[in-house]
Parts: sequence; C-alpha cells; structure tokens
Amino acid sequence: MQTKFDTAQLADPGTAAAAGAIRGCVHCGFCTATCPTYVLLGNELDSPRGRIYLIKEMLENGALPSAPVVKHLDRCLSCLACETHCPSGVSYRRIIDKGRAYVQEHYRRPFADRALRAMLTWVLPHRRRFRGALMLATLAEPLAGWIERIPAMRPLATLLNLNRAAKLLGREGSTRRGADCAPMRPAAVLRVGLAAGCVEPVLNPEIQQACVRLLQRAGCEIIRAKSEGCCGALSHHMGRDAEALELARANVDAWYRQLEAGPLAAIVVTASGCGPVIRDYGYMLRDDPRYAAKAARVAALACDLSELLERIGVPPTVGVPRTVVGYHAACSLQHGQRIVVTPSRLLADAGFEVREPKEAHLCCGSAGVYNILQPDIAAQLGARKAQALDALDADVIATGNIGCMVQIGAASRVPVVHIAQLLDWATGGPKPAGMS
Ligand code: SF4
Ligand code: SF4
Repeated sequence: MQTKFDTAQLADPGTAAAAGAIRGCVHCGFCTATCPTYVLLGNELDSPRGRIYLIKEMLENGALPSAPVVKHLDRCLSCLACETHCPSGVSYRRIIDKGRAYVQEHYRRPFADRALRAMLTWVLPHRRRFRGALMLATLAEPLAGWIERIPAMRPLATLLNLNRAAKLLGREGSTRRGADCAPMRPAAVLRVGLAAGCVEPVLNPEIQQACVRLLQRAGCEIIRAKSEGCCGALSHHMGRDAEALELARANVDAWYRQLEAGPLAAIVVTASGCGPVIRDYGYMLRDDPRYAAKAARVAALACDLSELLERIGVPPTVGVPRTVVGYHAACSLQHGQRIVVTPSRLLADAGFEVREPKEAHLCCGSAGVYNILQPDIAAQLGARKAQALDALDADVIATGNIGCMVQIGAASRVPVVHIAQLLDWATGGPKPAGMS
C-alpha cells in the first residue's frame, strides 16, 4: 500500500512503525475471512484491510478521527488472526496500536464511554482496588436489576458481571489446602520468575497456585518480584500508551531487581493475554535510554507456561481418570505469540484426551476488556465459541488465559479451567475447582 507520510510525521516512532507496516500490505484480502468482526458483520471496514486503510487515511491527513472511523477501530479485537494469516507478514499490531493511540489523543468520546474506560484503567490493573471493587459488587448484587437498567451505572454493572464470573470460576476454591497434593521435589534447580499480573490472581488465584505446585514438582524455584503487577495490556489496548508505559517500566524495574539478585531461566506468564505485551517491552521502551536495555532483557525472558514446560518437561504423571478436554487456543497464544500446538500436546502427553473445536482460529470475544466495551459483538463471538466447544462433548474446557475462561465460562455448559490446573492435577495436585 502506497503511503504519503511526510518527514515530520515519520519523526514520531509510532507513526514510522505503522507506516512501515502499512507499506507491506498488498491489499490481497487473505486476512478478511479470518477476521472475527468481518465474519460476523460482513463489512470491509470491519476487516483488517479496511481498518488499515482507515488508519492510513487518518494518520496521513492528520485529521481528527470521525465517529464512524472510531467505531470500526473500536470493533477490532486485537486478536491478531490477521497477522497469522497474512502472506506478506504485515505487522498489524503496529498499525492498530498507533491507530488506537491516535484516537485516544485526538477524539473525545461520549461521557459514558470515557467514564467506563477510566473506571477500567483505574480499577483492573491494581489488585487491591479490583478486590475492593468486587466486594462492592457483592454488596450491590441485590440491586443488580436496577443498576443494569441505568446506562450511567454501566461501570458498576460491569463490576457485577466480573464478580459473577469470578464466582463461576470457583474463586472460593482458592482457599483449599493442598493436602491431597503429591510431595514437592525437594531440590530446586531452576530459578524461574512467575508474573503475578493483575486480573488473574483476583478472579482465580488457583491458576497461579497450580502453576507454582507444577513448576516446583518440575524442579523450579519460584521467584516473585515485589511491586510487579499489571503488564499494561489493558491500557495499551485502549490506546492509553502513557499509562501502559508507566506500568511496563514498573515491571521492568521489579524484574530487574530479581535479575540482579541472580539469573532467571524464565519469567513465566500464566495469563496469555499478558504475554505479547511483556514480550514487547523491549520494543515499547526502545526509545527510552534508561529502560531500553533492561526492558529488552526482561522481555527476552518472558515465556508462556507451556513453553517453559516444553523446555524442562512436565513432571511424572500420577494417572487421573479418563478426561476429555476441549482445548481453546487463546488468540494471545496462537496469534499473539504463535504458540499453537504446545499446550494441547502437553495435555495429551499428560494423559488427557484432547479435542479441538472447529473455527479454532476465531476469537472468543474476550480480548482484554473488549467484552465490556463491545458487549454485543463479544456476546455473539462467545456464544459461537461456546457452541463449537460444547459440540466436542468434553468433560472440561482448558485454555491458557483468564479472559477466555471468563468469556467462555459465561456461555458454555462445560466447566472451564486453566491448562496449569489440569497439568497440576495430572502430576499430583488437586482436581480443579468446578470439575464435578
Ligand atoms: S493479508 Fe496482509 S497483505 Fe493481504 S490485505 Fe491482509 S494485511 Fe494486507
Ligand atoms: S486483530 Fe482480529 S479483529 Fe482486528 S482486524 Fe485483525 S483479525 Fe480482525
């Protein structure tokens, strides 16, 4: 695609990156059929090619974003299925990221939208605030019918939904003691960081508890980084780059202190939605002389739990009853990090019968806070994904991302767990909460 950015525009690193990616697009349209919003809406402007064109025009002209352009960009899930299927290797993420940041800077959203976005970025990235907000939601539950009818109460209605999702995922189960666990391997040999993140430990702390047991059995010493928190993905996907960079710097500092204390074999991420962003810290902070090198080092260590287990091996299994697992590949894993077969292979090697749904490349509609900001499209995608997974006749659905767990859990009749919970169970841990 030809571009006509001038030198002044290209002096902005984000615009330069987007312009380079736009020039790689040859209009072939191979990406359109893989785009969830194009599949649902059938509108070229809701396809990757259409959005690339809209962003190119907006950035080149330096124009104020119009409401229709913002609508089509907001509908993008950032699922990156288009990147996976693009034969020209177009880095769509560089284009949409700049488009979102430009909209954030130059477009005034309606008050209700601004209020919701402000609430999400003030609450969700901070574990204490999020826990407090869920307690508030519990107290407000008797008024749910009234709250959900009033548009101005949408932020509170959102918290009510998240609180219900947490209950559905068995948050109460987090207090279970591991009395029925197989003993840990006594001698730890590998120093491995475990990213805590923000939303996952609040909605379902069992995931990281299972991950710790699993990795300890595999011979790892688990390192937590004090003051580490939200990776910045929630802010980044809303175009709030300054907030995202602040969170990224805080995490780089937190992990760098651990690196100075001793080498780390990896920084394991259990929420795959965080993986692409943490792995991108080197790029995000490339122009910050104080952080560029440190961020690149931290980013290079980040890996999904499944990648580390593939490297070091899953601990010996203890034998669990025959269990059919429907594997849902999170977009952030299969498209964002190009980890496609590893999780299902690990599950199969651990003794589970793994089945995969049709349209496995399509997003479930979770996409960070997309299901809150675009509830109608997200609900359609969630129902479509749940239907495909339910058709597998599985005992349990497994995935590697808390967002997908919430989204699919609300639409499916089958319990949804994290891969870490199943692998922990197969190697001596407790049966995941929620599985009958
Ligand atoms: S597949 Fe790639 S090159 Fe083809 S239209 Fe889509 S983004 Fe452009
Ligand atoms: S990121 Fe996903 S929703 Fe957005 S254009 Fe690409 S395929 Fe479509």
